[in-house]
Amino acid sequence: MMVNEIGEVSNVSNTLKDVEILDNKRGYLDLKWTCIECDHVNTKNHISVFQNALMICSHCAASHYSWLSEYLDDSFNDNVLRIMDKYESIVVWPKTVELQQALHKSPALLEDNVYIVDSSPAKQGTYLRGKVTYSPDIIHSKNVKAVILVATVGTLISGITAQIKENYPEVELIVRANDLVEGEVDLSDPDFLV
Ligand SMILES: [Zn+2]
Repeated sequence: MMVNEIGEVSNVSNTLKDVEILDNKRGYLDLKWTCIECDHVNTKNHISVFQNALMICSHCAASHYSWLSEYLDDSFNDNVLRIMDKYESIVVWPKTVELQQALHKSPALLEDNVYIVDSSPAKQGTYLRGKVTYSPDIIHSKNVKAVILVATVGTLISGITAQIKENYPEVELIVRANDLVEGEVDLSDPDFLV
């Protein structure tokens, strides 16, 4: 694994074998996988799909680095397309390594009407997959009505949500990326909204 100065993983190889998703609860997976070193069958529960997962074999302690999103179907990209159809443009917030996985899994997020946003001035102006990172004010200037939160830490999600509700009340949809990874999400179901 190589990580450059902005935390972007540039060379990813999935080294898990015979991965089986046993359960998927809104982007949190229960997994079974086989160690390539010792053939031991491991399980790991409740791990976020966009997390850069370091999986350690419980038998031989070999560590395996993996992008778990590789094992998903196309539901995530399909749900992004449905948001795009309804709201035209989308902000994805914040810029994280998790976002890198989301962009990898969803070609729709690479479209020109999707804007990467981060509150940190240090990240604004930096690039990910050829897309520049904007300040949150892009929501005003591009009249964006939908935000996808690509984060799993609860305090980060609640902090960003509070910023949006205070400063950008025109945003109509705030949804977690993790909630978009399985099946067709009903965008009018309040249960899926942040
Ligand atoms: Zn092992």
